[in-house]
Amino acid sequence: MPEPGHFVVVGASLAGLRACEGLRTGGFNGRITLVGAEQHVPYDRPPLSKKVLQGEWELDRIALRSAEALKELELELRLGVPAAALELSPAGRGGTVTLADGMSIVGEAVIIATGSRPRTLRHQPSGAHVLRTIEDSMALRGEFAAGDRRVCLIGAGFIGLEAAAAARMAGNEVTVLEALPAPMLRAFGPAVGAAMAAVHEDEGVDIRCGVTVEAFTDSGVLLNGGELVAADVILVGIGAEPVVDWLAGSGLTLGDGVVVDEMLRAAPGVFAAGDVARWPNGQFGGEQMRIEHWTNAAEQGAHAAGNVLAGFNGVPLTPYRSVPFVWSDQYRHRIQYVGHSSAHDDVVIAVGTPQARKFVALYQRDGRLRAAAGLNLPRLVMRHRKLIAEGAAFADALVLAGEQADSLRP
Ligand SMILES: Cc1cc2nc3c(=O)[nH]c(=O)nc-3n(C[C@H](O)[C@H](O)[C@H](O)COP(=O)(O)OP(=O)(O)OC[C@H]3O[C@@H](n4cnc5c(N)ncnc54)[C@H](O)[C@@H]3O)c2cc1C
Repeated sequence: MPEPGHFVVVGASLAGLRACEGLRTGGFNGRITLVGAEQHVPYDRPPLSKKVLQGEWELDRIALRSAEALKELELELRLGVPAAALELSPAGRGGTVTLADGMSIVGEAVIIATGSRPRTLRHQPSGAHVLRTIEDSMALRGEFAAGDRRVCLIGAGFIGLEAAAAARMAGNEVTVLEALPAPMLRAFGPAVGAAMAAVHEDEGVDIRCGVTVEAFTDSGVLLNGGELVAADVILVGIGAEPVVDWLAGSGLTLGDGVVVDEMLRAAPGVFAAGDVARWPNGQFGGEQMRIEHWTNAAEQGAHAAGNVLAGFNGVPLTPYRSVPFVWSDQYRHRIQYVGHSSAHDDVVIAVGTPQARKFVALYQRDGRLRAAAGLNLPRLVMRHRKLIAEGAAFADALVLAGEQADSLRP
């Protein structure tokens, strides 16, 4: 098979960068074009809702790689111009990416890493903030820094709650609106969701669950019951959607993400990684997942690169299987979650208590450990990643957790 000459990676953030690095560490010396819609070189998003938003870090802290490290990768960077279309190669290997400025780039393999973007509400006013990019974070930071604003956060997911913490820490008056009966209910369930709400109530945040937004007015947010929540600053943090519109007409299967197989392959020589990829996770019986976590984007970017090279080297591709992991920092608290559960799974607070603001909750389905969520017990939570990967019985996980609880007692 002839040596491949040119690979194209679309999306210049975490998954795209890791894909480029994976191609180089895997021994590929040919051309790599990295296309990015943003002007910036790849940067880290988690600090945008934490240290950057709190004004503790400046932007020089969040570059994912130094200028020298990027240079060593010898990438052809096309930043500030989005890919507008993908045409699959009729020869069945890779395709042609057309950029919004009309330029066409032929890649013998294409890795799609276009991530996700904030969902918006109907009638969302242009003055309402979202939080995804450097520009979003800096705009919000400017508002929070005043310290005397009435801040209304719509959506009590990770973004809304981290922003609530940043706004409150700066002294603003903060209200969080959530349509479901508790924060982060779908992933965490009611008990852990209530514990998350309590963390914010401790700090003086008004958390209002079970309310929906009817309309925006000049003076704030109108709820469905007719109440007006007065607000100077509004952030809509109601989740994200995969960026796939540029792939319409490509022939790839799209459906809440780029649908890929276990190998992260969307078509011959076309792979997807990170927030944009929906894949069957063999770790959870092939359940279809699209995960919006940092670790997933990093791992999948590298994995897709490995499979691109495997395809060219004639060796078998490997499936991507994982136990998802996400963390969140709010005030002085560290929240972690490993695994994959839904609100229907049984949950037991296995170590500590929500009242002590220190606990680990375990989730089960069909007698197996599915997930663990924890507040301020980082090492204990992480031990469960391995147990979930091993398919541990829930009963065994509870016994182990009990032993861990004993070791926590003074
Ligand atoms: C504020 C914030 C805080 C977060 N905090 C945490 C956290 O604490 N823990 C955690 O685990 N995860 C966190 N995450 C999630 C984590 O950052 C994401 O999962 C990760 O960034 C996904 O990486 P990605 O490369 O797949 O996509 P993205 O980071 O979304 O990057 C996709 C890139 O592709 C570009 N792009 C889009 N369309 C095109 C196109 N047509 N052509 C070219 N380029 C395009 C985008 O502009 C973007 O730069 C946070 C996310 C945000 C926004």
